[in-house]
Amino acid sequence: MTPETKMETKATCPYCGVGCGVLIEHDGARITGVRGDPEHPANFGRLCTKGSTLHLTARPETRLQFPELRDTKGEARRRVGWDEAIDVAARRFADVINEHGPDAVAFYISGQLLTEDYYVFNKLMKGLIGSNNVDTNSRLCMSSAVAAYKQTLGADAPPCSYEDFALTDCLLIAGANPAYAHPIAFRRIEDAKAARPDMKIIVVDPRRTDTAAMADLHLAILPGTDIWLYNAMLNVLLWEGQVDQAFVRAHTEGFDALRDHVREITPAVAAEICGVKADDIRTAARWWGEAPAAMSLWCQGLNQSVHGTHNGAALIALSLATGKIGKPGSGPFSMTGQPNAMGGREVGGMANLLSGHRDLANPEHRAEVARLWGVDSVPEKPGLTAIELFDAMHEGRIKALWVACTNPAQSLPEQERVREALARCDFVVMQDAYRSTETAPFADLLLPASTWGEKEGTVTNSERRISHVHRALPPLGEARADWRIVCDFALALGPRIGRNDAARLFPYASPEEIFAEHAATTRGRDLDIAGLSYALLDAHGPQQWPFPEGATVADATARTRLYADGRFPTADGRARFVVPTGRLTAERADARFPLRMTTGRLRDQWHGMSRTGKVARLYNHVDEARIELNADDMATRGIRSGELVRVKSRRGEVVLRAAASDEIRSGQAFVAMHWGANTLNSAGANALTLREFDPYSKQPELKHATVQVEKA
Ligand code: SF4
Repeated sequence: MTPETKMETKATCPYCGVGCGVLIEHDGARITGVRGDPEHPANFGRLCTKGSTLHLTARPETRLQFPELRDTKGEARRRVGWDEAIDVAARRFADVINEHGPDAVAFYISGQLLTEDYYVFNKLMKGLIGSNNVDTNSRLCMSSAVAAYKQTLGADAPPCSYEDFALTDCLLIAGANPAYAHPIAFRRIEDAKAARPDMKIIVVDPRRTDTAAMADLHLAILPGTDIWLYNAMLNVLLWEGQVDQAFVRAHTEGFDALRDHVREITPAVAAEICGVKADDIRTAARWWGEAPAAMSLWCQGLNQSVHGTHNGAALIALSLATGKIGKPGSGPFSMTGQPNAMGGREVGGMANLLSGHRDLANPEHRAEVARLWGVDSVPEKPGLTAIELFDAMHEGRIKALWVACTNPAQSLPEQERVREALARCDFVVMQDAYRSTETAPFADLLLPASTWGEKEGTVTNSERRISHVHRALPPLGEARADWRIVCDFALALGPRIGRNDAARLFPYASPEEIFAEHAATTRGRDLDIAGLSYALLDAHGPQQWPFPEGATVADATARTRLYADGRFPTADGRARFVVPTGRLTAERADARFPLRMTTGRLRDQWHGMSRTGKVARLYNHVDEARIELNADDMATRGIRSGELVRVKSRRGEVVLRAAASDEIRSGQAFVAMHWGANTLNSAGANALTLREFDPYSKQPELKHATVQVEKA
């Protein structure tokens, strides 16, 4: 490559929800390097270990490059052309729909997809096929945060921005380990602490993670006890006169009921339940109450719980009760797990949502979307959410499944049952960039999708910022853009199910046309981006929503923080306090399964490792699957560090290497979520987890299961 042929293309990192900008270095044929985009406001040029090794993941031998089909289960798949692949997919789906109805098929998609891909999947299912059975791995990620925001603030709109880290006086990090999971956001927190050492950082986490290690106060609560902690903090705030009564009266509803609920939840009561000191709870409450600006930051530790929605609502209540929301350095802030879970939510890409943050349960919203799409109606019946969908497939009610850009045979809980469900499904399509995911053996049809470096579209990061992702290279082999695969399928399926309007519904020649339609559907909504276009994003860089028609970049920049006027997107403009309900955890430890296993991320791996697992240097931090245990629990069982142990739950077992850890208290264990059949020769942590879920968000409790550990 000569210096003249070296090119750089703007994109974003496809891993976490920080949404860092990257510059892809290439020569037009190969990706040769990557560096942080110094102009991107999410990272200003910084990248973590995962982002800075992205170019090493662009390996053709790991990619799915051609469609592959098998006629019957058990036989080897053979290479076929795209025309045959799409024709077979359309025929098999149409046969099921015509014989069993539209609810006998389902789509399970991904927060890794670009917004345009998400949009057409959603329109395909809800506008053409006539079912709401389209759900996504965002169900495992952010659905509890979505439900919490909607129950309290009235809309799925995280109010803070990354710049608030530098402006807050008290940061409460709850159920999150940004040092590993969102490293570039964590760098900002470290910078803020270095610049203003008086800023207080409180971390709530059962483990003493690297994030907890830098905190001024670490509350190592027992798993599942979050609500009691935040309710006790509110009790202290009330008792010590730190509640902003004027704000509560002017801008909220329901405070009296929550006040009565927390009256008996004193620090002493919560200390007993949470397993922390009452004085530490008082200290946390005082720091929050006395800080001129206070903000919370949360992630899967709160979301992946059978009371994930109320975990979030209890945390948000601290912001509302003290009036610390909509102001610099103040407010609740959920970090998005995946790179585009926000974009997926914006287009309504889940079983209970509709385009533009509309609700399926709302008849007016259904009518609006039908009008926008030019269809008679959007089906009323709620779609199956992730766990329900695989349960229905296990029972034979879902007969054709389309999986796109996600790996349910690794990432869903209770893996044995998930794999049984996939094996029982008559026809499984897998649309993916990689050929060797754990889900691939279950697929009857593999469709090769383009991936990072080959795709154009948009993503939205955790702070509501939309970036235009550019394509550096053409797709590898015969791979196609996800949106195009969906449109080709829609055109082939429509006439077979009596819908001759497919060509009118899916006329797109480019992702830009899809973005323009999506932006138009948001007009007048809380996330209004009718004023955004690819051209504007290219001219002015990534922008936060809302960005309505006629807005300027300066207007949007001034709106970086939502609810500054104290008005919330509820019917009366007032936020709501929620009285929480719920068990501690779905499973309780007992004599047979006495250890409480939590799950989480490693610093250098991502999800099921289909991308990061290809980079040798990303194993330098942790090189194999292991279970971390407290030294006392190991001694009790006669286990030494480095020995293989059998880890059993009520649902399955795995063999892992034991590692002594002083980050974990006795009675607990930790297993990273990443390892699966391809790296472990077993289903990993999700052989052990259970599929019970939160009643509002339907998000499963992936964070906690009780286990026993014995020498292998
Ligand atoms: Fe990618 Fe997240 Fe790392 Fe940024 S912090 S480089 S988005 S993995």
